[in-house]
Amino acid sequence: MKKKEFRLLLLPGDGIGPEIMKEAIKIIEVISQTGMKIETDIDLIGGSAIDVYGKPIAESVIKKAKTSDAILLGAVGGPKWDSLPYDSRPEQGLLILRKKLGLFANLRPIKSWSQLLDSSPLKRNILTGVDFIIVRELTGGIYFGKPRGIKLTQKGEKGYNTELYYRYEIERISHLAFQLARSRRKKVTSVDKANVLQSSILWRKIVNEVHREYLDVELNHLYVDNCAMQIIKGPKQFDIILTNNIFGDILSDESAIITGSIGMLPSASLGAKYGLYEPVHGSAPDIAGKNIANPCGIILSLALLFRYSLNKPKIADAIEGVVGKILEDGYRTTDIAEKGSKVLNTSDMGDRINAELVRMLTRL
Ligand code: NAD
Repeated sequence: MKKKEFRLLLLPGDGIGPEIMKEAIKIIEVISQTGMKIETDIDLIGGSAIDVYGKPIAESVIKKAKTSDAILLGAVGGPKWDSLPYDSRPEQGLLILRKKLGLFANLRPIKSWSQLLDSSPLKRNILTGVDFIIVRELTGGIYFGKPRGIKLTQKGEKGYNTELYYRYEIERISHLAFQLARSRRKKVTSVDKANVLQSSILWRKIVNEVHREYLDVELNHLYVDNCAMQIIKGPKQFDIILTNNIFGDILSDESAIITGSIGMLPSASLGAKYGLYEPVHGSAPDIAGKNIANPCGIILSLALLFRYSLNKPKIADAIEGVVGKILEDGYRTTDIAEKGSKVLNTSDMGDRINAELVRMLTRL
């Protein structure tokens, strides 16, 4: 039987998180009115959870996440909790959630909005038509590998980490990247440092093996230093960039420059069973409480949620189309404003997007 009801867990978090989540909720309400039953539950994560539960994520919230169809998150962190020890800081809430839900793949779509070409420091002819997705491995590599630590040795203090990948970790992320490429322009660029690192030699070997099951998809390999240059020189060449945890972290922030503002960037973190969606930016304490944050990052993350977790591509297309239309009409939040733009605050931007979505959905 076809499932018609969806359960979403909403975790606004800290700083601008609750402000932008409010705008995403408006969108969910509009979509619910089309007849799709969407049940939502709101809970705490990050600093707000530390204040109430005494820890950055409660067991009950992890349980709720596991019984939801998808999770939408705002952002975590802020100066109020910066002096806490590393293991009890707000960011741990997100790391624990990713780990418990087995979210091994982070997808960051990088798209140049024709309406925002002048907000980027790159030239128009380089930006026009850029549309690629970075598929970053999220639960392995140097951020988790052991041994790690800082030790006092005879030569003085020593800091060390371990870049480590198992075959199964490379296989599952490669399958995901090739499958995603099949729904797009069928091209995967795998990024590594196989000229220097053993973990990258294994990475390249296994990506090549998995590719044998996807011969309709073109595969090429780039060293990460070259890739960093190519993203600025010729970003149109990419469709899917497949890479490890640390390279993906750095390349995706570099790629943010293509979209003009970090406030525009959505992301999806996927595993075998669950999906977590969040804007790429953090809690922006410098603008929190001012109602000026750009809500597009979370609204576009909600579009990804409809596309990947709820399998509703038309709704996803509608949300993305509406954001484009609003930009086309000249509306901007301050982070993407140019001379002559109609500058809106967070809630007015959300209302505009909402009103346009109502119009678009009645035409679907
Ligand atoms: P940040 O992304 O919060 O802010 C960087 C800059 O971008 C700031 O000038 C901010 O005002 C601006 N900005 C961010 N989002 C915006 C939006 N939607 N609209 C307009 N402008 C926006 O990064 P940061 O300042 O390095 O970190 C602040 C806090 O967020 C820290 O505690 C950090 O640990 C946390 N953080 C959380 C996440 C997450 O929740 N996934 C990610 C990154 C950082």
